Amino acid sequence: MIAIGVPAEGKDEPRIGLSPETVKKLVKAGAKVTVRSGAGLGSHFSDQDYKEAGAQIAKSDADAVSGADVVFTVRRPPLAIAKAMKKGAALIGMLDPFSDAEGLDALAKTGVSLFAMELMPRITRAQSMDVLSSQSNLAGYKAVADAAAAFERALPMMMTAAGTVPAAKVFVMGVGVAGLQAIATARRLGAIVTATDVRPAVKEQVASLGAKFIAVEDEEFKQAETSGGYAKEMSDAYKKKQAALIADHVKNQDIVITTALIPGRPAPKLISKAMIESMRPGSIIVDLAAERGGNAELTKPGEIAEHKGVRIFGLLNLPGQVPVNASSLYARNLQAFLDPFIDKEKKVLAIDWEDELAQGTAIARDGAIVNAMVAERLGGKGASGAKAVTKSASAKSAPAKSAPSRSAAKAKAPAKKNGGTRKPKGGKTT
Ligand code: NAD
Repeated sequence: MIAIGVPAEGKDEPRIGLSPETVKKLVKAGAKVTVRSGAGLGSHFSDQDYKEAGAQIAKSDADAVSGADVVFTVRRPPLAIAKAMKKGAALIGMLDPFSDAEGLDALAKTGVSLFAMELMPRITRAQSMDVLSSQSNLAGYKAVADAAAAFERALPMMMTAAGTVPAAKVFVMGVGVAGLQAIATARRLGAIVTATDVRPAVKEQVASLGAKFIAVEDEEFKQAETSGGYAKEMSDAYKKKQAALIADHVKNQDIVITTALIPGRPAPKLISKAMIESMRPGSIIVDLAAERGGNAELTKPGEIAEHKGVRIFGLLNLPGQVPVNASSLYARNLQAFLDPFIDKEKKVLAIDWEDELAQGTAIARDGAIVNAMVAERLGGKGASGAKAVTKSASAKSAPAKSAPSRSAAKAKAPAKKNGGTRKPKGGKTT
């Protein structure tokens, strides 16, 4: 019987690695699931919900993971959790593979196999396992919901006896998974939506959501997509033309949602201080690229900055602010990933290390780092003379800074008004 353990996350992370719904499916498939008491409360999943789904409840994290063949986490867990696990057991989560290489190396040295879900290859077979998509989609929604809540005017056009309320103008920069959901959400709220991206494939998707596409459509733009579907870094000449177009457009926008990312690079700077100053007071920018340095010049990761009446939301972990949905989708991603690695007859863990998905996501095995990029960052100092045997084909989150680890995910947010920073109303800056 395969044993699955779920420890509690750090106090800044409301999500959890398994939902009661997924526990039920895993138990039905013959797994034994142990969840740390209270671990689901941030997502409103009680111990009772887990028990009813067939899980055992453990009093401590060590008890939850010590007998497990597989441990599911949201973020990279503290070393103590890996130390409490059996050698050769699999730790699967968003392990933040390109930050704190030494910390990752220490985890590897425990002999636990590490799988970073951020590295999932972006192929059709892996769509149901794609945690970046499931979480970005919610982030795109939450960005617009936050902006709408903070915006001191209405989004839809309203024709009333007392006069007409104009529709708000929303501009979405970067039309990946988060951007598409941001467009759809803003359209549902009745805003006039425009969007931009450097990938030509996006143009039709934007139009199909009822928004207008705006971009410098030159020869470089036609070649801007990699074979993996991601954006390329653009030339300085293109960036200049793009900046001129954006500057002209942004000054008339009420809400700007930025989501532009390039794999392995810091977020491109798309909104300058001058552009922010051209916007009307009361306008809002939500910068979903804040974790990678931000698309706007004045973004402060983890804070809401204010400049001349324009608020710039640099909130981190937006999916964690929709934790019920985020945990449910994340748990389904993990279950989908684990499923092919369960021997259905013997009901034991049987990882196929040759499988493209295992190869893509594996970071460590038998005490050694097996991901080339992580090994490179360790500069040969890796665990037990680690051999770098896999290439991170989809190393999307290989920036200078990627998603914060538990310890780095704390909010800063001193409450200062006008020109300073202020805490989000009722929001958590995790
Ligand atoms: P992302 O988070 O890497 O980037 C967000 C967007 O920013 C992208 O659309 C990118 O083109 C854009 N961008 C980059 N530089 C820009 C600039 N200077 N100006 C404007 N926009 C800029 O993207 P993502 O959400 O991860 O999606 C990337 C692609 O991967 C999409 O085509 C998506 O459909 C695809 N995808 C495939 C799978 C799968 O097949 N399993 C899963 C998820 C996403």
